[in-house]
Amino acid sequence: MERDLELENGIDTETEAVFDAGKIYCANCIHCKLVPSPANSGGQFYLRVRCDAGKWKKKLGGEKQYKYFTVTRRSIDCCDSYEAMGDASEFITDLRKTLPIRDEIYE
Ligand code: SF4
Repeated sequence: MERDLELENGIDTETEAVFDAGKIYCANCIHCKLVPSPANSGGQFYLRVRCDAGKWKKKLGGEKQYKYFTVTRRSIDCCDSYEAMGDASEFITDLRKTLPIRDEIYE
């Protein structure tokens, strides 16, 4: 019951990620860009994130993009193109509070 209430409020405290100071968070990198992705012919769109340094690749070579609401999960051990935009801990913590909880459509 308590868990249902947590999920109803959009806060899943059991799976909420903890900030790992040993990781690089792409969301805090200047190369992590928010881009629209058309949802239909009516002008609605989803939000995606891409790495404009070209580091996110599909297995077969194309560019990989991720759903915006998952952006704080993009953490890696190292990246030679990482350019921090500020204090990662504070930024990621604040971003987690404001991110949508699912893939939403915008107009
Ligand atoms: S340059 Fe590296 S750290 Fe920055 S967004 Fe791309 S993969 Fe992430």
